[in-house]
Amino acid sequence: MAYENHVWRLMKRPVGDIADGDLIYGKEPVPELKDGEYLVEVIYLSLDPTNRIWMSDVEQYMPPVELGAIMRGLVAGRVVESKNSDVKVGELRAGRGGFAKYVVASTTAPMSPVPTLPSVPLSRVFGSLFLTGPTAYFGLLDIGAPKAGETLVVSAAAGAVGSVVCQIGKIKGCRVIGIAGAKDKCDWLVNELGIDGAINYKTENVAKRLDELCPNGIDINFEQVGGEIMEAVMARMNNFSRMPLCGMISGYNDKEQAPGPRAWPLILMHRIKVQGFIVMDYLPRFGEAGKQLAQWMMEGKLKTKVDVRQGLETAIDSLRDLYTGRNSGKLLVQVTAE
Ligand code: NDP
Repeated sequence: MAYENHVWRLMKRPVGDIADGDLIYGKEPVPELKDGEYLVEVIYLSLDPTNRIWMSDVEQYMPPVELGAIMRGLVAGRVVESKNSDVKVGELRAGRGGFAKYVVASTTAPMSPVPTLPSVPLSRVFGSLFLTGPTAYFGLLDIGAPKAGETLVVSAAAGAVGSVVCQIGKIKGCRVIGIAGAKDKCDWLVNELGIDGAINYKTENVAKRLDELCPNGIDINFEQVGGEIMEAVMARMNNFSRMPLCGMISGYNDKEQAPGPRAWPLILMHRIKVQGFIVMDYLPRFGEAGKQLAQWMMEGKLKTKVDVRQGLETAIDSLRDLYTGRNSGKLLVQVTAE
């Protein structure tokens, strides 16, 4: 059967914010499948802060998307055609794909089976357990190494990764303080997720509030934002504290790289362990994270929020919302009905 694809192609590398025309939406035929390939009809496209990094020709953890190519993206969908004996039509698969309605996968570019959880919809299994959950799990537990009674500060705390970090921190017995950019996000963190305090960095003095909320200093900074917020947190970190460096979203749209961190002397004086990490490095251990996160979810200890936008054609407008905080939880685009 002939399928018509809908795709976003990267035509220009954005300079600063993503501009109209940097990516172009169009329709094109899906090429005939070769032996070993299978065709996945995308149900959900994950929008991730790193999408903006992939558009730029800068030093990064995988090659940038080539100009003219379909924009890379993580997707979950259903197999609609298969020339691979290990993959059956009707199966749900998730993995690296594109901003597209259909993705061709194969043995060399495979997509993983998607686990099902009783009464948990696909949007939450894919949105919360597939990538953001493991990011929170490994970043906090492996690098942050939390101990009961310690103080954990989380930036971008109400987002997809941050909200899971906050809850794992509580499960591990930490005092958890979140930093977020809106009152309703701060209220959700404290009232629904049960963390110990939240700071609205858009209306409050972050340094002053950190002093009030972290009287014993900070043992773990789960860093996702960079810039002034990172500096305010780092200035309050204890001796031998840890800083999993998960992201630095405040700079992803910068036209020029900000000057190096001014906090190097603090890292030295307080013997802070700073470690950047990329969740894909933990791929062989994703099963462990998925099992534990699913269990916490089923026990009601882990709440997650998904923000589902409708229609692939809205993907770039929705993506921009990640860099202004207009998303509320894990941002997904629903491309076709479940
Ligand atoms: P989120 O759901 O947290 O969405 C991004 C949030 O970042 C926004 O909602 C906004 O929240 C906040 N934000 C945006 N711009 C700024 C700014 N200038 N200053 C402060 N906060 C800002 O996205 P994710 O959970 O998917 O990603 C969070 C971070 O984790 C990103 O840095 C991302 O790159 C990183 N990440 C890293 C991975 C890894 O393997 N290392 C894997 C996945 C994500 P608010 O309203 O509070 O401002």
